[in-house]
Amino acid sequence: MRNCPICRSGDKEPIHRQPFVLPGLTDPTHYDVVHCRACGFIYAENPPPLLQNDYYSEATHHLHTVLPYGLSAIHARFFEFVAMHLPSIHDEGVSILDIGSAMGHFLAHFKRAGIQRVTGLDPNPMARFQALQQYGINVHTGTIDHFRHEHPFRLITLCGVLEHLHDLHIAVERIDALLETGGYVFIAVPDAGCFGLEPPAEPFLEFAAEHIDFFTRNTLAALFAQHGFQMVACETQHNDFYNNHYLLALFRRTSDTAAVLTYDAIGRTSVLSYIEHSKAVLAQTEIQIAELVVRQDPLVVWGAGSLTMRLCATTALMETNLLAFIDRNPQLQGKKIIGVPITTPSALSSLPAHTVLIASTTYTDEIEKTLRDELHWSGQIVKITSKQL
Ligand SMILES: [Zn+2]
Repeated sequence: MRNCPICRSGDKEPIHRQPFVLPGLTDPTHYDVVHCRACGFIYAENPPPLLQNDYYSEATHHLHTVLPYGLSAIHARFFEFVAMHLPSIHDEGVSILDIGSAMGHFLAHFKRAGIQRVTGLDPNPMARFQALQQYGINVHTGTIDHFRHEHPFRLITLCGVLEHLHDLHIAVERIDALLETGGYVFIAVPDAGCFGLEPPAEPFLEFAAEHIDFFTRNTLAALFAQHGFQMVACETQHNDFYNNHYLLALFRRTSDTAAVLTYDAIGRTSVLSYIEHSKAVLAQTEIQIAELVVRQDPLVVWGAGSLTMRLCATTALMETNLLAFIDRNPQLQGKKIIGVPITTPSALSSLPAHTVLIASTTYTDEIEKTLRDELHWSGQIVKITSKQL
């Protein structure tokens, strides 16, 4: 059970229980999203143990050899932010480390801008090989827990990493130890201060099993301030690909004086609103699934990712006449979700299915096209409704 990873207080208010199933487990599990009454931070207090060991070293879904355009555009905008607020990255000899680099897609933007000393760090051993082959970038295999480097870095970047980490203070200490005096840290995380702004396209997307820390601008600043880092730039960017908001922040290591913590009210208000919006959107999906339960015609669900993991645990999806899940991710193929096998797209033709439910809100059109054009699927296709009535 975690206490607040920002202020270490154990005084917390439960605000949401998020159930999900995980491939390979026989029973649904969950985590509890809580609000720290001392500093206002929102976090999962009991993340599933599966995610604490080798999950990331096996996670191939972060390794796209051909990066979807949307993701590439996000990296380009992250790079622009860094280049605008830190012009000295173009100085001679500057070296940069990207933690959770995957195969170096983000670092490639620095390299294209003429910055040669770029290094990646990723737990997946495949990332090293692919980064060298595609970009000529050196990616070390491992995590920040054990990484040592001969020379300190001017800039350390973490894009979509911090929200996954259990012990944030240890992470910032390790980052600090790898930085030059007066060095910089760039952070990109989902902006919990914006979760509740509007009904989400995919309900509860932000409560993916591996996302356990929900930062606002103030709580992110509070984490780093305790380690002598000052926030020098911060902005929120809308991310069209996932239809959510990212918080981008640049910190500089300035002093050894720890800052005084204050309470941030933004996260709680925003997350409570997000939960209400998500419930309303999910209610539409529940109606679609209820119809499939009544019909009981043979069904295949396309997608065994985060959305499916939540739908299996929170809706009647498992009460449909479900033959199989289909997923392109080889890491998932061959596993089961509560006894139902996950198989390949090409296996669809050998299944006596009448209907395919597309359990994705990001890749819906692409999957439908694959079904019609490549797999010549002539049965019914049901797409998740992502609008409130
Ligand atoms: Zn706290």
